[in-house]
Amino acid sequence: MPSIPYFSVGYAPRTVHAVFSELTFEQKVMSHTITIITNDQQSIQFECDDKQNIQDAAEAAGHFPPAICKSGGCGSCMAHCESGDYQLADYSAGILPENPEETQSILLCRTFPQGDLVINAPYAADKIQTHQPGAREATIVELEVLAERTVKLSLQLIADEENGLSFAFEPGQFVELEIPELNLKRAYSLANTPNWEGKLEFLIRLQENGVFSNYLKHHAKTGDNIKVHGPAGTFTLQEQSINPLCFVSGGTGLAPFMSILRRMEEWGEDHPVQLFLGVNNEQEIFCHQELKDLQDKLPQLNVNICVWQASENWSDYHGTPVDALAQYLQQTQIQPDIYLCGPPPLVESATQVAIQHGVDADKIYCERFA
Ligand SMILES: Cc1cc2nc3c(=O)[nH]c(=O)nc-3n(C[C@H](O)[C@H](O)[C@H](O)COP(=O)(O)OP(=O)(O)OC[C@H]3O[C@@H](n4cnc5c(N)ncnc54)[C@H](O)[C@@H]3O)c2cc1C
Repeated sequence: MPSIPYFSVGYAPRTVHAVFSELTFEQKVMSHTITIITNDQQSIQFECDDKQNIQDAAEAAGHFPPAICKSGGCGSCMAHCESGDYQLADYSAGILPENPEETQSILLCRTFPQGDLVINAPYAADKIQTHQPGAREATIVELEVLAERTVKLSLQLIADEENGLSFAFEPGQFVELEIPELNLKRAYSLANTPNWEGKLEFLIRLQENGVFSNYLKHHAKTGDNIKVHGPAGTFTLQEQSINPLCFVSGGTGLAPFMSILRRMEEWGEDHPVQLFLGVNNEQEIFCHQELKDLQDKLPQLNVNICVWQASENWSDYHGTPVDALAQYLQQTQIQPDIYLCGPPPLVESATQVAIQHGVDADKIYCERFA
């Protein structure tokens, strides 16, 4: 049996019983039944052997659950294992909650069954496609520096026969951007809303020595080709909920919230929203004007820009968005639905704060920029 680089073991795996044919003594693989139940209570079922990951097995059976990188790097195939034993192969740090075995959080592309599994998927059945979604071609139309270490990348899709210029996605979702010549792919959340003109907008923090960041900083120019894979992800509004909304973002973790808020503005929605945007210092503030414009159009939106190392002149919140969230939860009467997006440490500490203040864990939705 080929060795799988196991990083963490979800559940203590059962002993794998190799079955030997009496005649050939050839090792046989064990086949297990996998049931994926979607959040609209539909289900699909397929077989997966213990050398196969669940994503590959689903695809071999003609089901294509949302997944982009298929190598444990983007989190788009995150799900929850309700029952059964499995092994979880290595994945990028921060993609899953700390101690995923406690919450039974899994990535379909990194999960190898050790028995029959029942898995809950955080999306509706119509998100499971019957064919492999193809990549779209796009070109860079603008790369604008918004603040220290933050850029806005605007892409124009190239029309194709199947879709023309349209690109269907739900506000809050992300895509993977690929630079084919550099063999480079990274996940980025869409900051604009779905449109018929093929326009895609991203807010990107330039990481010190980051490969994609260096491409944007030193090489990217108008007209460059970029491949767009997706959309994917389940960080979208739970529309059936009537609770107030609380959005907490670290830096460019604002991107999916810009998309969601712009959609609320387009649709004239009046759901109360608290937005906490965290930056390190005033030089890092971006989208200030866009947020003011949104606040004018959405009177129920309250924007709090939280500056950690603020100067004396800063009149909004001094501190982190997690501190601001704690203060808000202390004085609010109605428990909100909480959406957290940004670097994994921010997401983890905001989750802890929310739980300490009595918010139900299933009312906390997270997107980790791992
Ligand atoms: C679902 C999802 C959505 C995302 N959306 C956004 C978004 O909207 N906006 C956004 O800004 N980001 C987003 N990200 C993060 C993004 O995908 C990239 O991870 C980020 O832009 C860094 O990519 P990079 O190639 O520049 O850096 P990488 O080359 O991947 O490196 C990342 C950082 O790690 C450091 N590093 C690299 N290798 C090592 C090493 N061996 N040892 C120590 N340090 C190392 C680098 O110096 C750099 O600081 C998202 C991530 C996910 C998973």
